[in-house]
Amino acid sequence: MTATHVNGIAVVSDKPTPSPISTPDKPVVFHRIRELQLADGTTWYGCRDCTETSPHMGKIRYHLRSHRTTDKTTTAPRTSRRARKPSATPATASKASASSAEPATAPAPTDPFARLTLAELGQRLEELAELDQLRTECQTWKNRALTAELTLSRISAALENTNS
Ligand SMILES: [Zn+2]
Repeated sequence: MTATHVNGIAVVSDKPTPSPISTPDKPVVFHRIRELQLADGTTWYGCRDCTETSPHMGKIRYHLRSHRTTDKTTTAPRTSRRARKPSATPATASKASASSAEPATAPAPTDPFARLTLAELGQRLEELAELDQLRTECQTWKNRALTAELTLSRISAALENTNS
């Protein structure tokens, strides 16, 4: 995984990089940062998990963050998500089918608009508007009938007066 060549120069030694807090008594090393001795005698630093190299150890240390984020997103959580999915998906699917079946059977009789399509709803609304228009027309006719009745009674009263 670690680079075997840097700029075409072969890596002759590959060992963990000693940490700045490392002491001969208590050696502390960065296992993921490799200290690379090149064939030309220079020291480079390399990533343990890929061929990223740099003459500066800090750059490899910074570079390791990209592995951490990709590790987290690619390997650890995705496998756990994959592991959860088989158990979770049938549960949610059965829940979804159950919950979708329940409202279809249960609230439909109570709610007459539940099964109506938009076109049907529009038709109902048009019917309601027609009914409303008929109602106002009825009111108009009723008023005209009342007026006519009043006029008739006046005429009959006038006739009665002329007769008597
Ligand atoms: Zn790397």
